[in-house]
Amino acid sequence: MAPHLIPGLTAEAASRICMEQCRAMCCQGPLVLALQEHEVQPFREQATAIGVTAVVRWASDGRAWVRFDDHPGWRCPMLDPATNACRIYDRRPQRCRDFPDELTPGCAISGG
Ligand code: SF4
Ligand code: SF4
Repeated sequence: MAPHLIPGLTAEAASRICMEQCRAMCCQGPLVLALQEHEVQPFREQATAIGVTAVVRWASDGRAWVRFDDHPGWRCPMLDPATNACRIYDRRPQRCRDFPDELTPGCAISGG
C-alpha cells in the first residue's frame, strides 16, 4: 500500500520534510512500531549490524512490537539521533513504508 501523501509530493521531498522539518516525530516518543512475525529476525540483525539493541516484545497473536520507550531517548533504535534519518531505510519494516496511510493530524507529508 502506498502511503497517503499530499498530491504531487515526491518521495524525496517527503523524506526531506520528515528529517528536516518534522524531525522524525513518528519514530520517537511514547509510540510503538508493529512488526510482522517475519520481520523480527531481520530487524534484530539490522540492529546488531549498526551496533544498537532492539527490544522486541511479542504479542500472543504472533505480532511483535518495538516500544520506543524501551530505548534510549524514547526513539526507535534505528533512528540516527544526529540526523533523524532511518539507518535501515531501504529495509525498513512494512509499517514504516505504509505510514501515513491516511490524512494524519500532525503529519506534514499527509497534509495533516
Ligand atoms: S509524522 Fe509524518 S511528516 Fe513527521 S516524520 Fe512521520 S511521516 Fe514524516
Ligand atoms: S525503522 Fe526507521 S522508519 Fe521505522 S520507526 Fe524506526 S527509524 Fe522510523
